[in-house]
Amino acid sequence: MSEEKDNSRLALVRGAVQSLRAYAVTDATGMIKLDAMENPYQWPDDMIRTWQEQLRAVEMNRYPDPRAGALTDRIRAAGLAPVGNTLVFGNGSDELIQIIMLTVGGHGRKVVAPVPSFVMYEMIARFTDTEFVGIPLRDDFTLDIEAMIAGVREHDPAVVILAYPNNPSGNLFDREAMLELISECNGLVVIDEAYHIFSNASFIDDLDQYDNVVVLRTLSKMGLAGLRLGYMTGRREWLTEFDKVRLPFNVNVLTQLTAEFALQHYRVFQEQADRICRERKRVERIMDSLDNIIPYPSDANFVLFRCEGCDAEEVYQGLLQQQILIKNLHGSGTALQNCLRATVGKTHENEAFLNALSLLVTTDYSLQ
Ligand SMILES: *Cc1c(COP(=O)(O)O)cnc(C)c1O
Repeated sequence: MSEEKDNSRLALVRGAVQSLRAYAVTDATGMIKLDAMENPYQWPDDMIRTWQEQLRAVEMNRYPDPRAGALTDRIRAAGLAPVGNTLVFGNGSDELIQIIMLTVGGHGRKVVAPVPSFVMYEMIARFTDTEFVGIPLRDDFTLDIEAMIAGVREHDPAVVILAYPNNPSGNLFDREAMLELISECNGLVVIDEAYHIFSNASFIDDLDQYDNVVVLRTLSKMGLAGLRLGYMTGRREWLTEFDKVRLPFNVNVLTQLTAEFALQHYRVFQEQADRICRERKRVERIMDSLDNIIPYPSDANFVLFRCEGCDAEEVYQGLLQQQILIKNLHGSGTALQNCLRATVGKTHENEAFLNALSLLVTTDYSLQ
């Protein structure tokens, strides 16, 4: 085919898509992987065996239960959603964000979110033709409630999204400020509780007080990132609309069964989460003791930190050379200047990371 013809066909790709870059994932083969907020722990052996036995009975020739009824019951039984609430499931909560924007976003509509926050909010807004309006957080990554309210009044967004706790900063926004914002919004307020298992804070039990709030949850960060399962809940009227946009069999049989099984053992995940939180406090404390490092307080399973008097890019590369992968946020916005984010791993992984970090930040580069 002629190159010219080929190019003219590619010109069909919508501008909104052409201007995007695909979500980048760094190859972590052989590395200590502290970049993606994964739970580092496996399941106990007997749990794996029982799960595998259950998998044998799965009928792969059948479509999955479109409503995931058994899974819904299991989530309620585990105390992860109010009894009586309708749930809509997604292939990860990323898909739920997409469903929300396909339902209430689009040309001429706006989404407001604080920045920096989860990058997929802007990405999904862009490819659904929804205008993204980012309102800067304060310097300490707390919610700038005055600016948020001014933004909501100016833009009258169809959606406001708040990650609670926030990613990449790790903090919980002030609850009173969020309630104030909810009452200011004519549109929908989405509260993304991806890290709820670490944070002890949630809006999920208060949903009946608001007609414009939905809560998103995911099983990814609690230890099932490979499974791809998220759910949302809120007023039934909203969920009925979202359910029209959800593709009929978006959550496959293996995911449904595995999530049901895992949630029967929710205590295992809760204990792992507690362990991760204890480890996080230790990591924060050690980082705090390093002269050139400023860690930000976290209610999640990761720590955002700023390099002061050292170069974040060099620190990131130095860690990579030692097979330690964290997330480099430097350059992804001025507020994240010189910032890196490390997921809390197993104790020996955190040790390796912290040792390498302390050597890197105390090295005087000018002598090299
Ligand atoms: C990781 C993350 C998600 C995406 O989770 P998946 O369910 O794995 O798609 C959503 N929101 C926030 C804030 C996250 O950090």
